[in-house]
Amino acid sequence: MIIAYQMPSVISRAIEAKNGDYSLPRKAKEIAIDGRLCKGCGICISVCPHDVLAKADTVDNRGFYLPVVADLDACVVCRLCEMECPDFAISVLEDT
Ligand code: SF4
Ligand code: SF4
Repeated sequence: MIIAYQMPSVISRAIEAKNGDYSLPRKAKEIAIDGRLCKGCGICISVCPHDVLAKADTVDNRGFYLPVVADLDACVVCRLCEMECPDFAISVLEDT
């Protein structure tokens, strides 16, 4: 039930982000990347419309370049990164 309630909101935020409509500005408090799940594919970096994420300068202990948060203030909590991550490795916590 919670997912069914939240999905329209998530989808509308993604559409707003793609269309450049930020009539409901949102800020992120934290963007968490689970280093156990992330494989450094870079999808989250490429889909972010505001260049919030970047590739790390060094590899982790598995040899992967994980994403890092380069500009938290630029995040509009559109959640495209969450939706596109194939490994459910990234989560955005909204600053309310
Ligand atoms: S899309 Fe997911 S698995 Fe790929 S780099 Fe981003 S957090 Fe890691
Ligand atoms: S929620 Fe993700 S894709 Fe959207 S602006 Fe923030 S970091 Fe970028």
